[in-house]
Amino acid sequence: MVHHMIIGSGPAAMNAIETIREIDGGNSKITLISDEPAYSRMVLPYYLAQQIPEKQIYTADDAYFDQLKVDRYIGQKVAKVDPTQKSVTLADGQKLTFDNLLIATGASPAPLAIPGADLPGVFPLWTIAHTEAVLQATAGKSAPEVAFIGAGFIGFIVLNAMYKRGWKLHVVEIADHVLPRMLDKESASLVETWLKNKGVGLHLGTSVQSIADHHGRKRLQLANGQTVDADVVIVATGIKPNTDLVQGSGIVVDQGIIVNDRMQTNVANVYAAGDVAQGPNLLGDRTEIHAIQPTAVDHGRIAGANMAGQTVRYPGSLSMNILDVCGLQCASFGRWNDPSAQAMTITNPDRPLYRKLLWTQDQITGAIFVGQSSDVGMLNDLGMVKGIIQTKTSFGPWKEFVRDNPFDIRRPYIALQVAKKLVEATLLGRPAKPRQYRFQNKQPGPQITQPQAHQHFVTNKQ
Ligand SMILES: Cc1cc2nc3c(=O)[nH]c(=O)nc-3n(C[C@H](O)[C@H](O)[C@H](O)COP(=O)(O)OP(=O)(O)OC[C@H]3O[C@@H](n4cnc5c(N)ncnc54)[C@H](O)[C@@H]3O)c2cc1C
Repeated sequence: MVHHMIIGSGPAAMNAIETIREIDGGNSKITLISDEPAYSRMVLPYYLAQQIPEKQIYTADDAYFDQLKVDRYIGQKVAKVDPTQKSVTLADGQKLTFDNLLIATGASPAPLAIPGADLPGVFPLWTIAHTEAVLQATAGKSAPEVAFIGAGFIGFIVLNAMYKRGWKLHVVEIADHVLPRMLDKESASLVETWLKNKGVGLHLGTSVQSIADHHGRKRLQLANGQTVDADVVIVATGIKPNTDLVQGSGIVVDQGIIVNDRMQTNVANVYAAGDVAQGPNLLGDRTEIHAIQPTAVDHGRIAGANMAGQTVRYPGSLSMNILDVCGLQCASFGRWNDPSAQAMTITNPDRPLYRKLLWTQDQITGAIFVGQSSDVGMLNDLGMVKGIIQTKTSFGPWKEFVRDNPFDIRRPYIALQVAKKLVEATLLGRPAKPRQYRFQNKQPGPQITQPQAHQHFVTNKQ
């Protein structure tokens, strides 16, 4: 019987396991090793905002793992991978062997090398343990003051959760604008005005030099001479893929573990998936780490299918970030920052509203959206634009139409049959199935019958 070993229990690992079982029906041995229980990090902000109970963070329990016939080493860390011996060594010295290995170890917060970064009350927010620590440090305070180091995607997701709770917030960012890896300077300026109006303190273009205890709170010393005081400090300065375990193993690592379109590393029976894997990119030849949940899920499913003996190739991941910043919706897709692309931009800072489409010849290859959700007429084509990029649809004469009618994406979307292409494009050659595990066995609401209008979008009526 083939023995599949999986390291990690995040979305990449769970999707790989579920895919293997879907294909082999239990006819293999699966061993899972993870230093944390199976859960979804992207749900942590909802727990922090107290919108869900702690139990709802988890993506599997013992009964579910038993049903999938998975042997578990939860709470154990893999220290070393040896592809020649087909073995892994755990931190406690145990050695286990495998036929196929999946490394789905994700990433960790990048360490911050400044004095005071290790003080109590200074946290990253990446794990359940970090979330619990922040909840504990702020317990009993009606409106704790929090300082963020870093104004990136993850930092802002956490910031939004704290905003919902009415906490007082400050942000220090070394770049000259917020969300530097998601928005251009012009769209970011709309977000900055919005945040200032919401009472969030912004310190841009400067760095934190040190953190010190100050009258029972924390004091951040900034490079521009200013100081920021807070009860708690959140460090959100980026992530580092967890590749230590393959050091010296011969498995090739660049920023992450390099994988091909079957999620194989340079060693054929060793796969990598999710935040740790540097894989194919939908919009170019370069391999990239996108470090988002949809990519981890896709990677896991592709790795699982190939480990189970199929040959399934991944078209590549699409960079996408969608964010609620204290009520202002922000999104960017694909090559949103491509200086060689032709840009079509609409902006109204007073509303505020910003939309930028980036064209490579007659294809949209990147986009940025900023606006309020009540501005639905301006934002409801966000999903359509994402689908257009994903399907690499050529616009032909419709490009001129969009130039003349920049708010009417719907017409070319229908005419070019983008929805049909999306419906037909499946990762594993069949529609995805719903997960079996649900918190307290809760099922989605009654099945919605598709209204007739749906047919107009997804069928070809020539
Ligand atoms: C607060 C927060 C909010 C987020 N929000 C979003 C969002 O809105 N949208 C989005 O797309 N993405 C979001 N993300 C990112 C998303 O969660 C990650 O992209 C995703 O979790 C990656 O999945 P993964 O399976 O690759 O890794 P992970 O989920 O990180 O899982 C890796 C697993 O490997 C284990 N592990 C690591 N090293 C070892 C070892 N040596 N031995 C044993 N086990 C090991 C870890 O403990 C962990 O269980 C968010 C992340 C955070 C932290």
